[in-house]
Amino acid sequence: MKTVVVVGGSVAALRAVETLRRDGYDDRLVLVSEEAHEPYDRPPLSKHILTGELPATAPLYRPAGSLLDAQVEVRLGARALALDLQRRRILLPDGELAYDGLIIATGARPRPLGTQPCPEGVHTLRTIDDAVTIRRSLEAGPKVVVVGAGFIGAEVASSARARGLDVTLVEAAVSPLVRAVGGAMGEALGRLHIVNGVKLRCGSGVDRFLGARRVEGVRLTDGSVIPADLVVVGVGVVPNTEWLLSSGLTIENGLRADPSLHVHGGTVFAAGDVVSWYNGSLARTVRGEQWTTAAEQGSHAARALLRGPQAAGHFRSSMYFWSDQYGAKIQFAGDTVADTVDVIDGDPAEHRFLAVYRRSGRGVGVLALNQPKTFSRLLRALDAGTPMEGVDDLLQVRAPAAGSLPA
Ligand SMILES: Cc1cc2nc3c(=O)[nH]c(=O)nc-3n(C[C@H](O)[C@H](O)[C@H](O)COP(=O)(O)OP(=O)(O)OC[C@H]3O[C@@H](n4cnc5c(N)ncnc54)[C@H](O)[C@@H]3O)c2cc1C
Repeated sequence: MKTVVVVGGSVAALRAVETLRRDGYDDRLVLVSEEAHEPYDRPPLSKHILTGELPATAPLYRPAGSLLDAQVEVRLGARALALDLQRRRILLPDGELAYDGLIIATGARPRPLGTQPCPEGVHTLRTIDDAVTIRRSLEAGPKVVVVGAGFIGAEVASSARARGLDVTLVEAAVSPLVRAVGGAMGEALGRLHIVNGVKLRCGSGVDRFLGARRVEGVRLTDGSVIPADLVVVGVGVVPNTEWLLSSGLTIENGLRADPSLHVHGGTVFAAGDVVSWYNGSLARTVRGEQWTTAAEQGSHAARALLRGPQAAGHFRSSMYFWSDQYGAKIQFAGDTVADTVDVIDGDPAEHRFLAVYRRSGRGVGVLALNQPKTFSRLLRALDAGTPMEGVDDLLQVRAPAAGSLPA
């Protein structure tokens, strides 16, 4: 291959580029990213960057310019507009870029909240620029409303509370984090907000934002009004696939790849939040929104491009993620599609527990709050060849500490 192009400028793209070089690819390598910054870490954006514990600059993964040292052509501020698979060309704003091998890692962006107009002071959070804007607003001591109690929303609420601000967290579902950890455990984790002084409003969505130019409040679907000077909306993401629409590739909950992350003709592969693929560990087709999955996929896609999809094998993942809120560490891996959840250690009321998700009696997922050591042990088992059985063996030695809850 004379030219390999990686489209995307975050963790999946960086891992792809670094793996290509590490595994011996020494011809032309181009990284195309819409962002103006070299690849940087997103998890701190909702945490230490908002609290002010880290500087308001992009937390770069590598020292500035080091990709150039690895002979990578870095094209920042360049948005891929279209893909021509027959001619092996990517359309960029300044012309076409030919490739012999391509890795697509264009990730995802925040889902907008309906189609209603947003006054000033209503933000979403995905990039360092978003984080810096929100941080400046937080410094002015606003009344904060966070819409959506998923992980990003929960972390924004936590960071705003760390600054001592008045925070209301609005969630349309019956409890926070339902999509990420299921209803029962979402409710247990949601208590973290309440004990830390956040007003948690579950079961009502946003009717509309109030304020002509600047936001002054949020009217909920139950008719109540919450005053607000700053609103952060975190209601999920949509994969960045628009530039692929005319390519003929399958777009279905992201860009569809085969189980080895292969997309087309032995030359095109995909990685990160943009890709949906059959994950043998969960036995279904999924799309990840976790840092670790994106990073590992970047490496896998690079190896699959160099050696071929068959030699690289299937990409399996326990979809591990973590979240830091109010000084507590939440970790999850595996599957939330379960019949029951057993708290096998600790107590949710004490904000320290380990819970196991079971389907047909087998352990399929693990959730930990402030239990990093035991969690790591179980995660290693999940990541081992036959992950779910490995976990179940480990779990058999412990009797449930509390009764089973419906998942
Ligand atoms: C605030 C925040 C906090 C997070 N915290 C955690 C956490 O604590 N734990 C955890 O597990 N996960 C966390 N995540 C999720 C994790 O960061 C993502 O899963 C990860 O960033 C996905 O990486 P990616 O490379 O697939 O895509 P992204 O990070 O979405 O990056 C995609 C890149 O592609 C570029 N791009 C998009 N379209 C084009 C185009 N057409 N042409 C060129 N370039 C394009 C974008 O500009 C961007 O640089 C967090 C995410 C955010 C936003």
